[in-house]
Amino acid sequence: MSDAVRPQPSTERGGDRSPPTWRRELADGIRDVATLRRLLELPPEIDQPADQGFPLLVPHAFVARMRRGDPRDPLLLQVLPSAAEGVEVPGFTADPVAESAALTAPGLVQKYAGRALMLVTGACAIHCRYCFRREFPYADAGATRGGVEAALDAIAADESIAEVILSGGDPLLADDGRLAEIIGRLEATRHVRRLRIHTRLPVVLPARITDGLVGLLGHTRLTVVVVIHANHAAELDAEVAAGLRRLAGARCLLLNQAVLLAGVNDTTTALRALSERLLDIGVVPYYLHQLDRVRGAAHFEVPETQALELHRRLRDSLPGYAVPRLVREVPGEPAKTWLA
Ligand SMILES: *Cc1c(COP(=O)(O)O)cnc(C)c1O
Ligand code: SF4
Repeated sequence: MSDAVRPQPSTERGGDRSPPTWRRELADGIRDVATLRRLLELPPEIDQPADQGFPLLVPHAFVARMRRGDPRDPLLLQVLPSAAEGVEVPGFTADPVAESAALTAPGLVQKYAGRALMLVTGACAIHCRYCFRREFPYADAGATRGGVEAALDAIAADESIAEVILSGGDPLLADDGRLAEIIGRLEATRHVRRLRIHTRLPVVLPARITDGLVGLLGHTRLTVVVVIHANHAAELDAEVAAGLRRLAGARCLLLNQAVLLAGVNDTTTALRALSERLLDIGVVPYYLHQLDRVRGAAHFEVPETQALELHRRLRDSLPGYAVPRLVREVPGEPAKTWLA
């Protein structure tokens, strides 16, 4: 995965050549463990574990929500490389969801009826240690400018596609001008009705929700669904809430997907607090994913029996719409598999 996200000259601010705030915050992301530990008032590590080729990356905005002095902080655990990543566990592989096999054009993944997923970029603003894309060969898969063009052509030629999902990496790392081009092409394709954006940026880099982006999403003929990714209530502070409120004001439907992660959110208390907090800020809990079995992430796995038990307790204590669907992605199935 590319972590080379550098500030670029931008015209997003009408002639002003300085990069927008979010690009600067992105470039200022923390990339070394020693700095992160110092900011969090944690003692320096004696034996720093190797990062397995997936380097630390986390924006300051996300670090600001971590508890000082707590090595078990649920946000910290999502980003801090650990020695457990180097342990080979049978069944944990480089491409656990068979994404490569489902590429129907460069940069286009088609697994489910009516929906096509576009790989807009391989880059992310944060590196989540449990991510199934940590080993995905983006450049080979077509997450490049040429790949995006080929994907748009394939979408235009396939009338069965009613919904286009922008994914990556994080598609909101494309700047507003680039997104406007992509959305323009999709609007010109009559059979496309919905635009779905799978992004962690509203949570980890809320400055990305610029006036330009809100205007873009608020003025398209497409129905816009924004699926954010938060795993713990502590990720959702007032700044995140304010950004999401602006997207809701632009008539975006807001959903959340979370991954069930050992040590992060594998208690009824944590999951209930996440659902309650999401609803407070206008986001519907959509999916709770069983971990994809990617190499290096086995220590995050929650056994399925425990996942089912947690989910049952959630159903017993929350309104139905506040209970996310517990799912696992099984390669070759026509939809995500509902476990409960
Ligand atoms: C998850 C996923 C989708 C969307 O599935 P929904 O059940 O509609 O949320 C579409 N395409 C791919 C490749 C996916 O992995
Ligand atoms: S979980 Fe999302 S934001 Fe995190 S590394 Fe994976 S693709 Fe990027």
